[in-house]
Amino acid sequence: MRTMVVGCFGWLLACCVSVWAQEAAQAAAARFEVLLENGVLHRGDGSPGVAGSVGIRGGRISLLPADSKADADQKIDCRGLVIAPGFIDLHTHSDEPLLDRRTRGSVNYLMQGCTTMVTGNCGFGPVDTAKFLAEIDQFGAGTNVAHLIPHGSLRAEAMGKVNRAATADELQRMQTLAEQAMQDGAWGMSTGLIYIPGTFTPTTELTAIAGVVSRHGGIYASHIRGEGTELLSSIEEALEIGRGSGCRVHVSHFKASGRASWGTLRLAISRIEAARAGGQLVTADQYPYTASSTSLEATLLPAWAREGGREALEKRLN
Ligand SMILES: [Zn+2]
Repeated sequence: MRTMVVGCFGWLLACCVSVWAQEAAQAAAARFEVLLENGVLHRGDGSPGVAGSVGIRGGRISLLPADSKADADQKIDCRGLVIAPGFIDLHTHSDEPLLDRRTRGSVNYLMQGCTTMVTGNCGFGPVDTAKFLAEIDQFGAGTNVAHLIPHGSLRAEAMGKVNRAATADELQRMQTLAEQAMQDGAWGMSTGLIYIPGTFTPTTELTAIAGVVSRHGGIYASHIRGEGTELLSSIEEALEIGRGSGCRVHVSHFKASGRASWGTLRLAISRIEAARAGGQLVTADQYPYTASSTSLEATLLPAWAREGGREALEKRLN
């Protein structure tokens, strides 16, 4: 009997200790640095939003139910607002603004909920990825940054803006630069195949460089060779480069540009869907509006007239 009482007491004590420990843990957990209260939580995985709050402490977030009694140093009332993970802007040309003290805060992105931006798009941007990312780290930036090796700038550095295929040495040089950039933290490679010098690059050359990117698990993101009447063949080229290199493929700013190609986007989408059904990893992004923009020279002048870049073009025009 005595043993049983002690036994019961011991069990009760154990219960109390466990309740206290739980309460202490909950009290500690309930105190946050910042609390986003009473919003609608969207996890970003496609599931419907639910009422709730988010506590932030020590760089970690906790999802809390709507009736949570959590406290915080700073509370932000999110009634009527959505709380979501930061958006990723896959297609920016913020390479230079990120290094300018007037714009590196990227307030325009933050105000739209973008907390990560991808740079180096359409084949343009810094090739020296270590230097670019170190500068961002040194001075800070308003968002996270993922950088793509800009193929056009890479090619210009290795062989200039010439209208021909690369020699074996030049290709080797581009592969070495790409290897270094991937080791330095690049997320993949972008191409701009309507621009100088990207447009002068044969498919096989792109596949050979993308092969280096693929070995590091990088993505191949392309401003494809034509977005008008050449849309379908350009999609095919991107898919071929993906298959040949092993890279995941991403088609940038998907569109059917110009009246002659209107309606072909459906066919382009079905090509991508067929590739996905066949197991290839392919994605695309699209503007949320019907307009687009690029340089006049890339739109109006043939590639041969743009060889060598803008200075050479101006000489030709004169
Ligand atoms: Zn582009």
